[in-house]
Amino acid sequence: MPRPTGPALMEKLVALCKRRGFIFPASEIYGGINGFWDYGPLGAQLKNNLRDAWWRDMVEVPPLGPDGEPLQIVGLDSSIIQNPKVWEASGHVGGFNDPMVDCRESKRRYRADHLHVFLPSDGEGPGFAFVEGEADTALSKIKKAKRDRDQYRVTPLLSLDPAAYAGVIGPDTKEPGSLTEPRQFNLMFQTYVGATATQDNLAYLRPETAQGIFLNFKNVLDSSRVAPPFGIAQIGKAFRNEVTPRNFIFRSREFEQMEMEWFCHSSEAVKWFEFWSQARLQWWKDQGVQAERLILRTHERDELAHYAKKGAGTVDIEYAYPFTEPGHGELEGVAHRSCYDLTQHQEHSNKKLEFFDPQTRERYLPDVIEPAAGLSRGVLVLLADAYDLDESRPSPELLRLKPSLAPVKAGIFPLTKKDGLPEISDRIFRELRERYVVQHDIKQSIGKRYARMDEIGTPFCITVDHQTLEDQTVTVRDRDTGYQQRIATDKLTPFLAEKL
Ligand code: ATP
Repeated sequence: MPRPTGPALMEKLVALCKRRGFIFPASEIYGGINGFWDYGPLGAQLKNNLRDAWWRDMVEVPPLGPDGEPLQIVGLDSSIIQNPKVWEASGHVGGFNDPMVDCRESKRRYRADHLHVFLPSDGEGPGFAFVEGEADTALSKIKKAKRDRDQYRVTPLLSLDPAAYAGVIGPDTKEPGSLTEPRQFNLMFQTYVGATATQDNLAYLRPETAQGIFLNFKNVLDSSRVAPPFGIAQIGKAFRNEVTPRNFIFRSREFEQMEMEWFCHSSEAVKWFEFWSQARLQWWKDQGVQAERLILRTHERDELAHYAKKGAGTVDIEYAYPFTEPGHGELEGVAHRSCYDLTQHQEHSNKKLEFFDPQTRERYLPDVIEPAAGLSRGVLVLLADAYDLDESRPSPELLRLKPSLAPVKAGIFPLTKKDGLPEISDRIFRELRERYVVQHDIKQSIGKRYARMDEIGTPFCITVDHQTLEDQTVTVRDRDTGYQQRIATDKLTPFLAEKL
């Protein structure tokens, strides 16, 4: 059986995540809450490992620049709730909207830009709307109407005059005319700061981590020994009241971002935009994500965000998700934000945010190149990319995660519970746990223990057997190949150090 694709792969993945403790629906015992997810013991560890890899490669050891010199990037951890004026200045209060369409009949709400319609080429009969990537229901409705797919062309709902919606059947209904005109919908979650819930106390949960960086640009400049070109990086939660959260953790209402704002002189912005686009694509490949499932896609002019209208543009790093393949969906965006955000904050706050270059005696607001990645979406990519089936194993499911990202690095097992083997494996466990996340497991058959480790992506299984009593060696089994080699117990730490 080959590795499943499409919805079948998603089903397997979601089931594995639940069964093994990677990801659970939030508030599950109360029936869940749409668009929110909890990370279980293994999911939290996997997410931390990805977060740590990003922080290390961006902040602690940033890459070498185009001239071979180490780049300067510093870290930041700003508040989720900021002065609400921030979001007016950033354009989010006015512009952070998705057009949405309601269905009067099914009461469901859709992102208008996610809806497409099968329109009859001959104008005979209704059109059939569907959510991007979910054409199947519409196709079966066409079949039921005793018509042929070839008699229809596909067009975005937004390209139709709303008057024509009267002749369109919604994705979840049988009769035409239930879709409303698109309306704007602000994606920011609101809350109140302080004891009273009045308009004066209204505040927002941040919809992106980036603004916290712009707000602290001057603080960092004045307190750290940095000067453009340099970066400020931040990892943290972001909240968007998405109209249609879907595809597991791909589009959720609470998620984590890993963003870096790279401040540079406008004359160098194009150079840095190209540098970061390539560097970030390469980084995902370095995390073990298969190169042929990743693409760089340049945004069309008309889909650019409000801040990216001028300048070098935006490029997305996209992955072939099970629900988009053979197409791709966004994993990270690299945007040239020009000096939009700093200009806005300077105007709205009335505080000078300019950088003074003592060498050229130029005073300016730097341009910004922003690589913005989803940490939660990254976890989905790692899981989907690593999922595989190996029919030669009794339990064929395995996650081929990059060893350094795997939540558990090694499973340590005594072959049997007798003859002092558990005592030896316990000693090995106690030694290795000082440096690595490892698990000691003495229950069940060795095959079952291997299978469990394969399923959670553990790269190595260390087994203590009777030969260990004679020559102090153990077998080390490789997850991907099943290959077993004997290694002296005192060589295990250097072995893992090399592999991880
Ligand atoms: P989309 O077009 O998918 O809504 P976006 O272009 O609005 O995404 P950005 O504002 O560029 O996304 O955010 C940067 C990154 O944050 C995205 O590449 C993605 O990885 C992540 N992200 C954005 N929205 C969500 C969400 N609702 N759930 C999970 N991750 C998200």
